[in-house]
Amino acid sequence: MRILISNDDGYLAPGLVALADALAAIADITVIAPDSNRSGSSNSLTLDRPLSMHKAPNGFYFVNGTPSDCVHLALTGMLAEKPDLVVSGINQGQNMGEDTLYSGTVAAATEGYLFGIPAMAFSQVEHGWAHLDAAARIARDMVERRFDSMPKPFLFNVNIPNRPYAELGKVAATRLGKRHVSEPVIKTQDPHGREIYWVGPTGAAKDAGEGTDFYAARQGWVSVTPLQVDLTHATQLATLKEALA
Ligand code: MN
Repeated sequence: MRILISNDDGYLAPGLVALADALAAIADITVIAPDSNRSGSSNSLTLDRPLSMHKAPNGFYFVNGTPSDCVHLALTGMLAEKPDLVVSGINQGQNMGEDTLYSGTVAAATEGYLFGIPAMAFSQVEHGWAHLDAAARIARDMVERRFDSMPKPFLFNVNIPNRPYAELGKVAATRLGKRHVSEPVIKTQDPHGREIYWVGPTGAAKDAGEGTDFYAARQGWVSVTPLQVDLTHATQLATLKEALA
């Protein structure tokens, strides 16, 4: 099996190293990731300048671009053969609910999915890399499960509580929950007295009921949400057709 691995925390991130180590034991891996932390870059592609790719001493490739750039470059010019799976992460911090729209971790996996390749995005629920070994073992478990009964391609968004492997609950199929709107930007001043703004933190969970990713994570379960890309609002489409008739 050939696996393409990327992330959004950058090629030096502990989560990427742990993921690559875990999957190198069971597959031929290629790792290509941003040269710096590009969290929150969503599905953006760099179109206003060329990209450079370099190889680090550990064999990882790094690119001065986004997670989507990395996977796009790998699939359209770098790899001689299409991988069987694209895997992203392990991200520092949860990607649940609307996070999935902003996440570069999810975007790297989505790029593979858009090219018809099954893909999985992995995130740890809490920051700080606690119990990263357990998360990497879950990632390996998930890859080894193969999911032969799933339609191809699939796109899984996986969130893993920061717990020892033995203390993780079941692996639960979930839907995305919803968050309250983000906290306001933080307005402050730079050292020269100029006004600057920091984008504030994400909102707390709003729809975190049973069946959601938020709920599963709170139980200590591994949350797996199958994602799709079509943003069409099917029910509003019918109403709009009537409005425009
Ligand atoms: Mn990140």
